[in-house]
Amino acid sequence: MEKIFNYINGNFVASVSDEWLDNYEPATGQVYSQLPRSKEQDIENAYSAAKKAFDSWSKLNTEDRSRYLLAIADAIEKRLEEFAQAESKDTGKPIRLARSVDIPRAVANFRFFATAILHAHDEAYDMGKIGFNYVKRKPIGVAGLIAPWNLPLYLLTWKIAPALAVGNTAIAKPSELTPYTAFLLAKVCEEVGLPKGVLNIVHGLGNEAGEAIVNHPHIPVISFTGGTTTGKRIAQNAGKYLKKISLELGGKNPAIIFEDADLQRCVEISTRGAFNNQGQICLCSSRFFIQKNIYDDFKNAFIQKVQTFMPNDPQLESTAMGAIVSEAQFQKVLFYIEKAKKLGGKILCGGKVPDAINERCAKGWFIEPTVIENLDPYCAVNQEEIFGPVVTLTPFETENEVLEYANSVPYGLSAVIWTQNLKRAHLLADQLEAGIIWVNNWMVRDLRTPFGGMKESGIGREGGVEALHFYTESKNIFIGLL
Ligand code: NDP
Repeated sequence: MEKIFNYINGNFVASVSDEWLDNYEPATGQVYSQLPRSKEQDIENAYSAAKKAFDSWSKLNTEDRSRYLLAIADAIEKRLEEFAQAESKDTGKPIRLARSVDIPRAVANFRFFATAILHAHDEAYDMGKIGFNYVKRKPIGVAGLIAPWNLPLYLLTWKIAPALAVGNTAIAKPSELTPYTAFLLAKVCEEVGLPKGVLNIVHGLGNEAGEAIVNHPHIPVISFTGGTTTGKRIAQNAGKYLKKISLELGGKNPAIIFEDADLQRCVEISTRGAFNNQGQICLCSSRFFIQKNIYDDFKNAFIQKVQTFMPNDPQLESTAMGAIVSEAQFQKVLFYIEKAKKLGGKILCGGKVPDAINERCAKGWFIEPTVIENLDPYCAVNQEEIFGPVVTLTPFETENEVLEYANSVPYGLSAVIWTQNLKRAHLLADQLEAGIIWVNNWMVRDLRTPFGGMKESGIGREGGVEALHFYTESKNIFIGLL
């Protein structure tokens, strides 16, 4: 059985306890590798390495740090196919998606922050004759970086790249469900000669390795992406030490479709917006609100398109939808489909496990893309995050009505508006409680923009200058001229 190792102080090691966790391939439901079950002592070892490396890494000049990160980006890109195959196998996502989105984005994350630091400028505030202020930004120390399973390398590198770029060292913990590409990243770091201890990757369970990072008294900054319940626990634990935290959490994102929308384009993009990565993207739209007089037209066109999205073996080039990441997540999605039926929801398509896909995938965790109508906008299925291939359709008449529906959930991550009326788009975007809003598109990403959610979707923003600021401590220095 293949083994995945921790990467601590530049060495590939098992956990101190030498305990191992099974790693499953979602498309087959079979164990295909094992990862270390790391605990407190492993985190302590990683911390010692990161602390020791901090001295020289934080003092390295910006150009040199940039060169290391660019070398990592180039090395991942060179092995893109190997990374993509590994990500697809580990998560169940279609190989096409891993190859076109996940891995290129990991490369882009390193390039973006490696070059951003070369162009950063410092602030100064002139007070005339009295004097002036200037602001210095210093790396904080050892950063704790915890990422989920849905976009494993993409989201882990979204944290690693800015943290290292500004001079921190780091301990990163990928999800126990999807450790493989983080292991490959460790190999790349070794290959490019990243100084020992600058990046440490520790595998294990959230409530063991993850908690040990958050509870470590000398790790002053924690960046976490994952579920809202876990985020609240992390905030509590980190609060004991007043750590700096960034929390990117769950969502229950609305898509609002007005009668003047370009319906063909809207259907095309909305299908991806609902079911890309099996609906397991925090930005996926899960509640579709459609203006009443185009409800049937949208519904019919949408269902027709969704039916071309049926799950298949993720290894096949033609597959648009793969497997659900784990058996627990698979059961959770099926639970919500049953709940929707009990609440009077009408299943318009999907709603079940597909017939066996092929022999290889006979025991995999697949669910057909599911569209449901006739549910109250305030019922559990429309209020709680499912994080799978399930969406609901709800008609509306007025802007005020749809705004009330859209903002009724505890989350506030993203929203989509489809309309040709620019004034309406601006006014509605202004009132929607969401950190990221797309008008007439979905998931267009510019890495310079602030990324994050309102309400229970999180605290803080990643991306661009926000990330550079998050991983630094600012110091204002006043120079008196009197
Ligand atoms: P979890 O919250 O279960 O886990 C996220 C990470 O935290 C994993 O590495 C997990 O480890 C670890 N973890 C779990 N418990 C603790 C703990 N007590 N202390 C420290 N770390 C812990 O989320 P999922 O992995 O299930 O990811 C899905 C969720 O992520 C969804 O809710 C989704 O909306 C959200 N998400 C948010 C995004 C955003 O940008 N806002 C983007 C992508 C996803 P392990 O897996 O090993 O248990």
